[in-house]
Amino acid sequence: MFKAFLIKYAEIGIKGKNRHIFEEALCRRMRHALAEVEGTFSVTREMGRIYVLTDGAFDYDGAVEALRRVFGIAGICPVVIAEDTGFEDLAKAVVDYVKEVYGGQEKTFKVCARRAKKTYPMSSMELNSELGGRILDACPNMKVDVHDPDVYLNVEIRQSIYLYSETIPGPGGMPVGTNGQAMLLLSGGIDSPVAGYMIAKRGVKIDAVYFHAPPYTSERAKQKVVDLARQVARYSGPIRLHVVNFTEIQLYIYEKCPHDELTIIMRRYMMKLAEMFARQDGCLGLITGESIGQVASQTMHSLAVTNEVCTMPVFRPLIGFDKQEIVDISEKIGTYETSVLPYEDCCTIFVAKHPVTKPNLNIIRRSETHLAEKIDGMMETAFATAELIEIS
Ligand code: ATP
Ligand code: MG
Repeated sequence: MFKAFLIKYAEIGIKGKNRHIFEEALCRRMRHALAEVEGTFSVTREMGRIYVLTDGAFDYDGAVEALRRVFGIAGICPVVIAEDTGFEDLAKAVVDYVKEVYGGQEKTFKVCARRAKKTYPMSSMELNSELGGRILDACPNMKVDVHDPDVYLNVEIRQSIYLYSETIPGPGGMPVGTNGQAMLLLSGGIDSPVAGYMIAKRGVKIDAVYFHAPPYTSERAKQKVVDLARQVARYSGPIRLHVVNFTEIQLYIYEKCPHDELTIIMRRYMMKLAEMFARQDGCLGLITGESIGQVASQTMHSLAVTNEVCTMPVFRPLIGFDKQEIVDISEKIGTYETSVLPYEDCCTIFVAKHPVTKPNLNIIRRSETHLAEKIDGMMETAFATAELIEIS
């Protein structure tokens, strides 16, 4: 029945003179998302509106699913297209539409006719009342309410006639690529994929870095992170995933530093390395899945000490979220099941029984002087030998 979609987009604030950049980016992201769906689609902009037009049979559910992952879309309206062959045919198409979509449901409605083609022989007002009358005659359960109707039945007169009334919610946000690029520290946990999703939702292109510690962490743990990156990429678009061998650095810290400081020192080196990749990829910031107080390394004191090594802004979109709130989002975006698979990541292996929860920056810095001899070389090696996996 439906032959097209009208796309409603979010964030009125960024219209104005940048509006066309936003719209073009949105169209590009939509084409990208629809490329994998069965059918022939064309995404067009006309008169401040974005449409997906189809040609021939297509996978309706697949198209809706794909569009529901495109940031920047606030709503997806399935459209019935009727040829303009006179008012009687139009009235029949409208009544058929109402019967098909609302069946015997009790609804109040209002017809909203608009004429892009001004040569149409009836005015919008006439269309509203004539079509409203036809619907009332044909569908006894429907009532008119012009102030607060359940259903706005939109009738747009163009070259063809477009009918729509339903809006499927989109993800909101802004099209990826309209807001720079950032480097996600992606682990195999629940939090970091959600953090990446949230920043991508604001229009930011995402790259990622994962630290693994073979043979202490397994190939399965790495595969889990690749799988998570792939799931985030369904929303964010392609991700360049850097897989860094962190074993030597971790063992060196383990050998030279007090064990209750291991996690915090390790995290400082992770951030430094992540920034090296960020700079190389043209990123403007880092993203982590940290949330205040969740674990010892995420107390305010620990976050401050970790942050101290960074020169780029670090975005922590989950900072004020409770775990359950993060879990809810991970379930919604489909990463939860993968995240809870039980493979170790490198943090869980070298963790102390009683890690410091209020690290003192001066003490941490003093401990790090024990690493002076080899750490720079190790960092260079870790950077140079990282594996790049292109996630599409
Ligand atoms: P997550 O659920 O995202 O793994 P977590 O609760 O396990 O988070 P931490 O292990 O303290 O918390 O990690 C905090 C953040 O540091 C993570 O959200 C992630 O951004 C980053 N991080 C932790 N371990 C790694 C890793 N092995 N590789 C890349 N980033 C990591
Ligand atoms: Mg983790």
